[in-house]
Amino acid sequence: GNSKGSFELPEIKFTKHFINGQFVDSISGKTFETRDPRNGEVIAHIAEGHKEDIDLAVKAAREAFDHGKWPRMSGYERGRIMSKFADLIEEHIEELAALDGVDGGKLFTIGKIMDIPGCIHMLRYYAGAADKIHGETLKIAGEYQGHTLKEPIGVAGIIIPWNFPSTLFFVKVSPALAAGCTMVVKPAEQTPLSALFYAHLAKQAGIPDGVINVVNGFGSEAGAALASHMDVDKIAFTGSPEVGRLIMKASAESNLKTVSLELGGKSPLIIFDDADVDMAVNLARMAIFFNKGEICVAGSRVYVQEGIYDEFVKKAAEAAKSWVVGDPFDPTVQQGPQVDKKQFERVLKYIEHGKTEGATLLTGGKPYGETGYYIEPTIFTDVKENMLIAQDEIFGPVMSLMKFKTVEEAIERANCTRYGLAAGIVTKDLNIANWVARSVRAGTIWINCYFAFDPDCPFGGYKMSGFGRDQGLHAIEKYLQVKSVITPLINSPW
Ligand code: NAD
Repeated sequence: GNSKGSFELPEIKFTKHFINGQFVDSISGKTFETRDPRNGEVIAHIAEGHKEDIDLAVKAAREAFDHGKWPRMSGYERGRIMSKFADLIEEHIEELAALDGVDGGKLFTIGKIMDIPGCIHMLRYYAGAADKIHGETLKIAGEYQGHTLKEPIGVAGIIIPWNFPSTLFFVKVSPALAAGCTMVVKPAEQTPLSALFYAHLAKQAGIPDGVINVVNGFGSEAGAALASHMDVDKIAFTGSPEVGRLIMKASAESNLKTVSLELGGKSPLIIFDDADVDMAVNLARMAIFFNKGEICVAGSRVYVQEGIYDEFVKKAAEAAKSWVVGDPFDPTVQQGPQVDKKQFERVLKYIEHGKTEGATLLTGGKPYGETGYYIEPTIFTDVKENMLIAQDEIFGPVMSLMKFKTVEEAIERANCTRYGLAAGIVTKDLNIANWVARSVRAGTIWINCYFAFDPDCPFGGYKMSGFGRDQGLHAIEKYLQVKSVITPLINSPW
């Protein structure tokens, strides 16, 4: 059912911007509402940042970078403070999971066992990496020797979406901290609450003022001001391809700051005839309906080989019907509401497209319940590659099921997308698994599993899913500059 949760909602302690170590109102005094997607009710009024608030935050970050302790302390010391930050988060796991639950409609239980512990893991991973950042020695032709220094890139602008408010905050903030950068974070306007809590804990942990600043507000105002700021050295972005383009454009038209983009996907899940059908159905259901389909690596295109196709379709329909939709604070629920009215309507519009384009609606296809932004787990069959529902990222609980004959056909159709973020393969045949893994152009390939993540696993896109890698030691490089230093070996020739 679509009932209100019995869970006592967390107190909302932080609603302002966090600039130079203080919670402050907007200069304009303006606020915006953040709403509970279970019922559309207002949870809190949040300070609405504009260009002048971004200017203040960037000034604080610039000062902390140019003259502050953080970039100058040893990696070991930075790591110790980051570990303390992680320990403080650990004391507030339930409260943080509840904030993401009311703000984003995310499952409270999953937040408690996955999202927030994952953030702690991420911080500790990069805390351990902070004292292992070093350059190389160079053998230079002639009587010279050289070495490289890896230096923090400077002030990082971090712009994140609403589907994983905590995870994506730490995916960007942790390597930036390890590198010795200072930063301004612009959380999504739909889900600002947990980021402000993290800013508060960062200060308690001893991260100096000005190192992490958080400015709330809308993308076209606060986000755009950050992307085009002359004193920001780098933008790390996760979100839509449309906004990714705007960010590159803003960089090109301002100071040519470096940009890294993570822009979502239309990931194929390829299931071969030799698969255990029950296991494959279970995996496919999780791959698309987890987090209500609001996940950039969602397995939204499911290709099933012809020998097991009919059985798969029948079982997938049953699996979708038994997937429990309802209040994200109810521990038996598997799918909460879409994040807001706009996304809810967008997903329903794609479902209508699917019907008019001639796909067959196997199951679902409607809002669930009377209030809130719930959508039934939906499956289309008879989907063709040229249909909008097979090409666009729907970002909702909508699976497109397709039948294929040969391995070559599966590879070709899997690659028939402008995206390249992830792919899944289900088969017991090692040769096929490895061949397909090499042939699909995507940044993450899951074989006989899905959504297996680790801070040490590089994550990012091919093609229009973006560029640059989050996670792993690769991610630290995005927040570093490389400097060559050259000295004469014997006597200075000058
Ligand atoms: P979005 O790209 O508009 O928002 C992401 C972030 O960018 C937010 O913080 C937003 O305020 C900011 N932003 C918006 N306009 C900006 C601008 N001009 N300059 C700087 N920052 C700006 O995404 P959305 O509208 O929330 O979602 C739309 C679609 O994007 C979704 O349906 C989905 O397909 C995709 N998406 C992908 C991911 C992902 O994880 N890759 C996450 C969210 C959304």
